[in-house]
Amino acid sequence: MNAPGTLYVVATPIGNLEDISARALRVLREVKLIAAEDTRHSARLLQHFGINTPLTACHEHNEREQGSRLIQRLLGGDDMALVSDAGTPLISDPGYHLVRNARAAGVRVVPVPGACALIAALSASGLPSDRFVFEGFLPARSTARRQRLQAVVEEPRTLIFYEAPHRLLECLADLRELFGVERPAVLGRELTKTFETIKGAPLGELHDWVAADSNQQRGECVLLIEGWQAPAGEETLSAEALRVLDLLLAELPLKRAAALAAEITGVRKNLLYQQALERQKAED
Ligand code: SAM
Repeated sequence: MNAPGTLYVVATPIGNLEDISARALRVLREVKLIAAEDTRHSARLLQHFGINTPLTACHEHNEREQGSRLIQRLLGGDDMALVSDAGTPLISDPGYHLVRNARAAGVRVVPVPGACALIAALSASGLPSDRFVFEGFLPARSTARRQRLQAVVEEPRTLIFYEAPHRLLECLADLRELFGVERPAVLGRELTKTFETIKGAPLGELHDWVAADSNQQRGECVLLIEGWQAPAGEETLSAEALRVLDLLLAELPLKRAAALAAEITGVRKNLLYQQALERQKAED
C-alpha cells in the first residue's frame, strides 16, 4: 500500500503576482491535483506561471462531499494542493473542513505560507501588532453588525475586519458611533495593487474622508481599529466583567461572587469586591 500523500495549503497573491513564493510555485507544479475555490480563477494564475497541474473545484458548497473524495486520493498516495482565489486558504475562505478531515484521517497537512490581507494590513498600519483579534467579515445587516461591534468596543487588542466595498461607509458610520470619533483606525485598501491606500485617522475623520471620495469606496479593504484603552488613572470594569459579577451576585455571597468573577474575567479580585460592595450599598 502507498504511503498517504500530503495536503499542501498554499497561499497565493492578494493582488500583486510577484508575491507568490518560489516554494508555492514548485509545490503547485509538483502535486498531482490542485483543489481550488474557483477553478477558472486559479487556472489564470497557473497559466501565468506556466503550470499545467489539473484543477478540481473545492468551495463552500461542495467542500464536504468533495472533501471525502479528495481525502481518499490523498490516502491513496497522491500529493495535493489547496488554494483559494486570493491569499491564504481558510482565512475567510474555504478549506476548513478539508484540512480538519484530512488531519483526522492521518494525512499530513503542510502550510506553504504567503500573502494574507489581514497580516499585510496590520504590518503596515502602525497600530499595535503584538496582540490582535481578527473578526473576519461583519454581518451585512446593520442590527447584527452593531451587535457584533458592541461586543468588542472594550477589546484592548487591535481589531481587524474584512469588509465589502459597498458596505464600507455604513460600517464606518456604525464604528464611529459605537467606538467614538476619536478612536484611531486604519483603512487598508487594494493592498499590493496599483491603487493601494493605507490611510490612518481617527474614526470620525476616516469616515468623512471615505464619504468625500467615492474612489475609496471601491476595491478590496481591511479595517483596523486600535484596541480600547482605559482612561488614564482610572481602573474601570468592562461591561462583560460587570455582567458576570451581577450574575454571580444573584446566586452567591458577595466575597465568593467577587472571587469567582475574578477567576472568570481575569479582573483583579479587589476591584470586583469594591464594585460588589457598591452594588450592594446601592440596593440597600
Ligand atoms: N484568504 C484571503 C486572505 O488571506 O486575506 C481573504 C479572502 S476574503 C474572501 C476577501 C477579503 O479579504 C476582501 O473582501 C478584503 O476584505 C480582504 N482582501 C483581500 N485582498 C485584499 C487586498 N488586496 N487589499 C485589501 N483587502 C483585501
